[in-house]
Amino acid sequence: MRFDLLHPADQLIMMMNRIYYRGMTTTSGGNLSIKDADGSMWITPSGVDKGNLGRDDIMRVRPDGSFEGRHKPSSEYPFHLSVFKERPDFGAVLHAHSPGLVACSIVRCLPEVLLTPDIFQVCGEIAMAPYALPGSALLGRKIADEFGKGYSVVILENHGVVIGAADIFQAFMIFETLETAARLQINARRLGTPRQLTIDQAMHEAGTKAPDYPAAEAFEHSSEEKAARRDLATFIHRSYQQSLFTSTQGTYSARLHASTRKSIGSIRRSLQSL
Ligand SMILES: [Zn+2]
Repeated sequence: MRFDLLHPADQLIMMMNRIYYRGMTTTSGGNLSIKDADGSMWITPSGVDKGNLGRDDIMRVRPDGSFEGRHKPSSEYPFHLSVFKERPDFGAVLHAHSPGLVACSIVRCLPEVLLTPDIFQVCGEIAMAPYALPGSALLGRKIADEFGKGYSVVILENHGVVIGAADIFQAFMIFETLETAARLQINARRLGTPRQLTIDQAMHEAGTKAPDYPAAEAFEHSSEEKAARRDLATFIHRSYQQSLFTSTQGTYSARLHASTRKSIGSIRRSLQSL
């Protein structure tokens, strides 16, 4: 799916549905925004059920500060504006009160990202912003300060998380991976003491290098291949719906009959089309 071809309001609804229906926010918590090319900001509304958002519920904040839409924008919209001002490289901001990351914010410890290689590769380094009242200008300044230091992921003390990225799907992938990491950490502590990887282990072992695969040749797509693609997509969707996959973790592959020469793999980006 070409996510960038969707209207910003549709992108926000799609991502909020993913967040809500995977148990990563409440009906009232969390807000998402997208910066438009004309300087407007599209943002989820205040006081509307997050599990039942429609296109007309999404609010637009124009560059002059006026609003367009039938609700009020999220009460936390000032900090979204602050983050976009501080980081022109961001195209989207995601804020959520997900159970795992809120637990981390309450005990004021950063979620451990070196538990598995992919968590570190997706999430990078994380900051913690000192507590301030939700919706206040002071909170906006404290959040923007951390983004100004170069971080893209900021935990808010006793509150939740804010993530900035080039687009809302990138922000969602980081968020879902980090929330999964926080829950993994909580579960692992029940079994024993979690062991972290080193940064070298999480990136690449010294002396090892990702395989240099040749570019795919043009070839006919057989009916066998098309059937395998359909089956892979079905299994990916089922795995994601059962929370066995995330938007960044999980792979299936299928080998085709020798005469077709090619095998195909399911890759994590396939989940964009869910
Ligand atoms: Zn909040």
